[in-house]
Amino acid sequence: MGLERLELRDFRNHGHLALDLDPGVNLIVGDNAQGKTNLLEAIGFLGSGKSFRTQRQSELIRFGADMAELEGTVFAQDRHQTIRWVLFSGARPRMLWRNGAKKRSAGELGGLLPSVLFCPEDLTLLKGGAAQRRRFMDQALCQLRPNYEAAIGEYQKILEQKSRILKDKEENIAVLAVLPEFNDRLCQVGAMVISYRARFFQALAREAAVYHRQFSGELEALALGYKTVSTVTDPFAPVETIRGQLQAHLEEHYRAELASQQCLTGPHKDDFEVSLNGIGVRAFGSQGQTRTATISLKLALRQLMSREFGQEPVLLLDDVLSELDPKRQDFLLNQIHRGQVFITCCEPGRFTRLGTTIPIGVQPAGDGL
Ligand code: ATP
Ligand code: MG
Repeated sequence: MGLERLELRDFRNHGHLALDLDPGVNLIVGDNAQGKTNLLEAIGFLGSGKSFRTQRQSELIRFGADMAELEGTVFAQDRHQTIRWVLFSGARPRMLWRNGAKKRSAGELGGLLPSVLFCPEDLTLLKGGAAQRRRFMDQALCQLRPNYEAAIGEYQKILEQKSRILKDKEENIAVLAVLPEFNDRLCQVGAMVISYRARFFQALAREAAVYHRQFSGELEALALGYKTVSTVTDPFAPVETIRGQLQAHLEEHYRAELASQQCLTGPHKDDFEVSLNGIGVRAFGSQGQTRTATISLKLALRQLMSREFGQEPVLLLDDVLSELDPKRQDFLLNQIHRGQVFITCCEPGRFTRLGTTIPIGVQPAGDGL
C-alpha cells in the first residue's frame, strides 16, 4: 500500500527527481532549503490536487519553467496504478491522468493516495487563532468528502460576493436589493457545511479520545466541541432546520453587517475546542498536554481516513519529530508501524533505524519524463 515510485520534473526547486520508495518509513534527509518539504508537498498534491502550502498553483512550478510534472506509481486496491499531473504556468488548465486515462478532477482519484500532514505549525493548532482550526477542518473534510469541497467552495464564493455588496453599497445603495438573495444562498449552503462539520467532529472526537486516553495513561479524557452559529441548537438537525436558524441569526445581525460592511455571521466564523477532563486546552492546557492532544487529533484523522478509504493514508511528518520530546516522539513513532510514512529531517540521528534514508539534494533538469 502506498507510493512506490515518484518522479518530479520542474516541481518547486526540483529539476528532475526520481525516487523508489519504501512501503514503510522513508526518512528524507538533507540540508536546509534542499527541497524536503517540497517533496512532501508533491506527495500530498499527487493524491489530492492540492498543496498544503499554497492556493496558487503557479508557485509549484520551478522558477523559469512553464510547466511542472508529477508522476507516481501507487499500490492501491490490490494493484499498481499511476497518477500523473501536468501543471502549466499560464491560464491553461492543469491535466490529470489515472492509469493513462485522462481525468477531469482530483475527485476521480477516489482515495488512491490519501495523506495526512503533521508539521511544527500544527503544534499551535489548539492554542492559536480560529482560522487555523478552520483550515484544519476544511482540509480534512475536503479529502474525506468530495461533496464538502464543492459546498465550501460555493460558500466562499457567495461570501466574497456578499462582502463586495456590503462595501459597494457606499457608492451605490441600489446594490442592497440583491442582498436577501445572497443571504438565502449563504444560509442554504452554510447549513450543509455545518452538517458535514458536525459529523466530522463527532467521528474525530471518538478516535482522538482513544489515542489521548492511551497516551495519558488513562488519566485524561479528551473531548472535542464543535462551535458554530449560536442560533443553531443542534448541528445534527436536518439541513432545512439549520438553514432557518442561520437565517434568524443573519436577520438579527442585518444592521450590524451594514454598519461594519462585513459578513458577521455564518460558518466562516466556526471553531472547535478541545478539552481535557472538562478543562479547555486553549486557555489552560500545558505545553505538553496541548502537544499530546494535537498528536491525538492527527492520529485520529489518519484513522478516519483509513476507515473511509480502506487503506492507511500516507503520513507526512515535516520536521515535527525534532519539535517533540522523546516521550512524545516515541508515542507518535509507536503508532506508525502501519502504513507508509515520510519523515523529513536535517540530521537523521536516532531515526535512522526507522526505515530507508532518502538523501535530498538538487538535481539538474533533464528531458521529458
Ligand atoms: P528546511 O530544512 O529549511 O525546512 P527544506 O529542504 O524543507 O528546508 P523547502 O521548503 O522544500 O526546503 O524549499 C527548498 C527551496 O525551494 C527554497 O529555498 C525555496 O526558495 C525553493 N522554491 C520554492 N518554490 C520554488 C519554485 N517554484 N521554484 C524554484 N525554487 C523554489
Ligand atoms: Mg522544510
